[in-house]
Amino acid sequence: MPSYVIFEKCDGCKGQDKTACMYICPNDLMVLDKERMKAYNRDPQMCWECMCCVKICPQQAMDVRGYADFIPMGASATPLRGSEDIMWTIKFRDGSIKRFKFPTRTTPEGSADPLGGFGTHDDLNSPALATEPGSLGLTAVPTPN
Ligand code: SF4
Ligand code: SF4
Repeated sequence: MPSYVIFEKCDGCKGQDKTACMYICPNDLMVLDKERMKAYNRDPQMCWECMCCVKICPQQAMDVRGYADFIPMGASATPLRGSEDIMWTIKFRDGSIKRFKFPTRTTPEGSADPLGGFGTHDDLNSPALATEPGSLGLTAVPTPN
């Protein structure tokens, strides 16, 4: 089931040019109805349920089916973002509630090394991908003779 907006909770991100859900959606699916100041998913079939919009919405106004590996069918999963973690509230069909917290990062901000300590090259014609050949444990990328 694709994401959907809980209209009562959405405030249209207070009319900014780009709402949080528009900014984050990798499929560019979210749009803002400026007359009603409510966002909506313009093409639900294209939604891959990545949950980015659910996690970023400052009003907890976005919902999507929770994956079956962490909540059973029929339960809802609502995230609350903190500066360093997300608190998930799971509401089960019988009304019971569980909460759990996941850190959003495991290293200090700005400390991640995108190349993992390997060097890279800037030759676009090279068959080597970024960080190769070092990340392959080689001194040169093998090429067919
Ligand atoms: Fe509405 Fe949330 Fe989207 Fe902002 S991020 S427009 S509050 S659904
Ligand atoms: Fe876009 Fe992901 Fe939200 Fe679907 S769940 S609307 S793909 S951000």
